[in-house]
Amino acid sequence: MQIDRLLYPVHSLGPGDRLAIWIRGCKKRCFNCANPELQLFNPNSEVSMTVIKEMISKIDKKIDGITITGGEPFCQAKDLFEIITFMLEITDDILIFTGYSKKEIYDLNNDYAIKCIEKATVVIYGEYVDELNDNHTPLIASSNQVIEFHNPKINNKYINYMNNGRIIENFYYNDNLISVGIHNSRRKKGENTKVDKRN
Ligand code: SF4
Repeated sequence: MQIDRLLYPVHSLGPGDRLAIWIRGCKKRCFNCANPELQLFNPNSEVSMTVIKEMISKIDKKIDGITITGGEPFCQAKDLFEIITFMLEITDDILIFTGYSKKEIYDLNNDYAIKCIEKATVVIYGEYVDELNDNHTPLIASSNQVIEFHNPKINNKYINYMNNGRIIENFYYNDNLISVGIHNSRRKKGENTKVDKRN
């Protein structure tokens, strides 16, 4: 599976001490994408499922939840399914961010993608639309995005978390400072938000 980074503990992408994993590759080209460096696939980022599981198993503190983001996690649906199945042994709180709408995921005609949706606890659907970023709502980067809860037991945890506003965390990683969380729009007034999606 092509992944770029795996960080713990992360508090800015869901409630509790979370393990967050960034999956590489995305065919969308949203204007002001938070992680443009993850749009392109890169064979050098290939990590075997065994190594990913070993890395996760080495975390000796309680993992309250897992956040899977990217990039586009559903571009590697078969591997995503395997990793979710493994992660469900650790926690019942698995949040996936996807740039696809639910319909787009079903249109992929990929059984693994559908199984991933069914297994995830929370899914946030929809590409990022910069002019719909209200610079305020936690977890929802732009108001077109839809949050879907699959386990009523964790709803209150998310509602309480979302009452506290956006959180941004900075991690020093691979000689870079990485800013994690749902960011406010960086768009300048009057800036053209159209992007070329042919790449
Ligand atoms: S869907 Fe997400 S990762 Fe893909 S281009 Fe849009 S914001 Fe970036």
